Amino acid sequence: MDTCIPKEIIGSHFNQYYPSLSKFPQNYLQLFFRDVNIIERHLAYLCPMCLREGIICAPSFGLGMSSEFSLDHFPPESVGGFLKILVCKKCNNDAGGLFENSLKKKMESISFDNGIISSQQMAKAEILDQSGKKIIPGRYTTKITIGDDGTTEISLKPKSNDKIELLDKWIEQSKTDLNYKIELTVPIVDEIKVSKAFLKAAYLFCFHSWGYEFAYSPTGENIRKVLKGEIEYPCKTPTFWLRDSIEAENMKFTPLGLCYLQKPLDCRCFIVNMMLEEKGTGYKNIASVLVPNPTLTGWEDLKKIQEIIDSRIELMGISMAHVIDFTVQDRVFDGYSKSWEKLINDNS
Ligand SMILES: [Zn+2]
Repeated sequence: MDTCIPKEIIGSHFNQYYPSLSKFPQNYLQLFFRDVNIIERHLAYLCPMCLREGIICAPSFGLGMSSEFSLDHFPPESVGGFLKILVCKKCNNDAGGLFENSLKKKMESISFDNGIISSQQMAKAEILDQSGKKIIPGRYTTKITIGDDGTTEISLKPKSNDKIELLDKWIEQSKTDLNYKIELTVPIVDEIKVSKAFLKAAYLFCFHSWGYEFAYSPTGENIRKVLKGEIEYPCKTPTFWLRDSIEAENMKFTPLGLCYLQKPLDCRCFIVNMMLEEKGTGYKNIASVLVPNPTLTGWEDLKKIQEIIDSRIELMGISMAHVIDFTVQDRVFDGYSKSWEKLINDNS
């Protein structure tokens, strides 16, 4: 089958993830082979998001794909994500349309709320007189911008070439008649979508390090259910924005990607730290997402950790370190369990 993905990229995915997938023959062989008793030598990769669509290479038929694949950025490229992984096109497009676009809006809104110079916020404006009666009908798309001196500028016609007759007439009239007020309605960012976008990115960070052991674990399965809206995640995503509790310049000392949360001791779990950027203003913040441990109580444990974090006003005494010891890159295929054992044993 023809594919627009370079062979080297498919090859590197086989190389990195197939040994991990091969530990789960009962989960994937029947997706590719009619008779699972006659299996020829092969390499395979399954979409980490749905675990149904796949790419396979075998001597008798060459390279085959059950569906189109494309490279997916995690976190999305629009907020500064740069890591990429092959995901089937359906999963890639669904996530983009259903929730990932909300992240860009969220970053714009945080940048604006923090008063970062040249932040922009779109709104709807109504033109009223002092008694609250509409002077002209309608609600107009408006852009609010934070200027160099910190003042906000409201532009009732973000596209100045647009002809909006009533509005144009009123703008002219408003230069002499000051009996008006402008009421602005700012759209609220859908936090459920934002949280799903973060969770998907965190899931892909875990898959990137631990491969299919993570994807097939109860945690992996449950996260996919959360993304489909079937169940709820046990804690907030992101659990916190790091910049809200540390100095901006200290952000560069924070380990990014999949990490151990080592301290406080009663909060031990995995944490994915993601640096996000609002590209218009350059505003950056780190969103941290907690990931459950692989034990039977992993999911419930996160609820307790969330309570502890909420009850301590200061996020002081947090200690984090990269998960680098047991990953598929190092040919370890039970890294999710091994990393957890290490975290528990190192600190007890
Ligand atoms: Zn998929």
